[in-house]
Amino acid sequence: MQLKKRSLLGGFNRFRLMLTLVLAVLLPAAALIYVNFSQLRAFERDKVLEAAIHRDFQEMLAISDKKMNKKAYTMVQEAVESFPSPDNDPTEKEEKLDRLLEKSPWLSHAFLFDEDGFVIRSQPGQANDKFIRDERENMTEYRVWFGGREGKSLVEGLHKKPQHITFYNSQTKRADGPAFLACAFFVLPEVAEDRVVLGGISFDPCYLKSTFFPGMLEEFVNDRTRDQGGNRLAMMIYPANSPEGHEIKPLVASTGWGDGKPEVMRKFDDAFQGLALGIKYQGTSVEALGETWMHRSFLILGFLSVMIIGGLVLTKHMVSKEMALAKLKSDFVSNVSHELRTPLALIRLYAETLELGRITTREKKQQYYRIVRKESERLTALINNILDFSRIEAGRKEYEFRETDIADLVRNTLDSYRYQIEQQGFAFEESIDPDLPIVRVDREAIARALVNLVNNALKYSTNEKYLGVKLYRENGVVKLEVADRGIGIARRDQPKIFEKFYRAGDPLVHNTKGSGLGLSLVRHITEAHGGEIAVESAPGTGSRFTMSLPLAAAGKQQPQTTSTTIH
Ligand code: ADP
Repeated sequence: MQLKKRSLLGGFNRFRLMLTLVLAVLLPAAALIYVNFSQLRAFERDKVLEAAIHRDFQEMLAISDKKMNKKAYTMVQEAVESFPSPDNDPTEKEEKLDRLLEKSPWLSHAFLFDEDGFVIRSQPGQANDKFIRDERENMTEYRVWFGGREGKSLVEGLHKKPQHITFYNSQTKRADGPAFLACAFFVLPEVAEDRVVLGGISFDPCYLKSTFFPGMLEEFVNDRTRDQGGNRLAMMIYPANSPEGHEIKPLVASTGWGDGKPEVMRKFDDAFQGLALGIKYQGTSVEALGETWMHRSFLILGFLSVMIIGGLVLTKHMVSKEMALAKLKSDFVSNVSHELRTPLALIRLYAETLELGRITTREKKQQYYRIVRKESERLTALINNILDFSRIEAGRKEYEFRETDIADLVRNTLDSYRYQIEQQGFAFEESIDPDLPIVRVDREAIARALVNLVNNALKYSTNEKYLGVKLYRENGVVKLEVADRGIGIARRDQPKIFEKFYRAGDPLVHNTKGSGLGLSLVRHITEAHGGEIAVESAPGTGSRFTMSLPLAAAGKQQPQTTSTTIH
């Protein structure tokens, strides 16, 4: 009944532990894994990373656009400062424009339109270039344009603009192919607003293509790499009116552009209207990056999930083990108390009977004395076991190895048990090899191990009562064998019976008194002698325990005693 109650309690504890594990650990872990996983799937589906990179690229292009505009405006502003006044005489105007062109090699042409007419000058070094001449020819046509109504409204419009500058860009040609001509028109400061006076300059297309644009692009790319690291970027500038579906031909590209389409583009809408900016990663695409990132994230999540699951399994395993040990310990306490109580009760009973003087016959008295002695011996053995065990646990167990005639030791130990063995109706077979060498052992420990093995054989034999003890030598090893034909040990229990507190689950075992310490001591003692303990057993047929003590280690011929502490 008590057993049933206890196992019910154990089951409840187990259930509680499982519930805690499931509710407090397993469910949150599963939820965490699930949420992360579905979030990653959503990221994958909505291409979140790709969108974020595109947004970032857009922003970078907008900033680049602004910086290039600013620079272009500043350059024009500088040129405006050196411009002649409409009130200068014609030669003065030409001279001033020439000086400006001379100190600004980035200019191709500069012109001034006022009430007196139209003066245009070109970069002196390029005066003979056919393309420059054609260009100047075309620009001269502006005079007609400016002279009409358009000139007036252009001036009005320019006065309204914050910097009084506007750009008029077009395609042109140079010896090496098509080129981009950026022309700036402006009104001059300190000229009355109602006068139609217009200045203009055009950026040298070769300067734009080989110096201005490449310099800016490299600067943007490098700034970005310095700030954020990661994959290197590449940028390029191309004509904005490239026909749809045709391969985009860069006008200028930063190093590492390679080929292929830009990931994100932006048309210039001010100083460089007519051109567009493109950006991409060097040697890879945003899509490929997104895929790699997804792949890596799934891998990491998978790995973490496996770790979490592994951790859970391990935790459950450890907690179960701890619970099993706690149960073993509580069983141990009740087993030991029970084992102490029985001999004490017997001793008291027989001592009191003797004291009362009711026993008259000598034989009876002798029998009672023997019982008292035997029961106190049992108590001593049990207490010795417990003391030894606690010393081992505390790492204080010491062994004293002495030269010993092991045959003598075994014989003497068995002799003091012979009567008890035979009394209990056991067939006892003793076989001790006569010429065994002297070995170095701890006598008390070996005797205790033997007593434990013999006691077990007596305790766990119900039907056939047989005890066989053998001591012999085999291959440099002294073997001490204790065999019975008792209840035997199930295969799955065999490795565990040497663990502390462990008692087999067999009901026959539970009905027998025991602490679960004996065999763990036997193993400790054997191992302290450099030997090993083995068991062969089958339920219902009996068990055979064999202690093997190596002669070489145990039997060294050393006169003095040695003591060793084994943890
Ligand atoms: P105890 O006998 O006090 O329970 P032991 O450490 O000596 O503790 O033994 C551990 C367990 O091994 C026993 O509870 C029993 O189940 C099993 N056992 C030991 N010796 C025998 C044996 N000779 N026959 C059957 N089972 C045994």
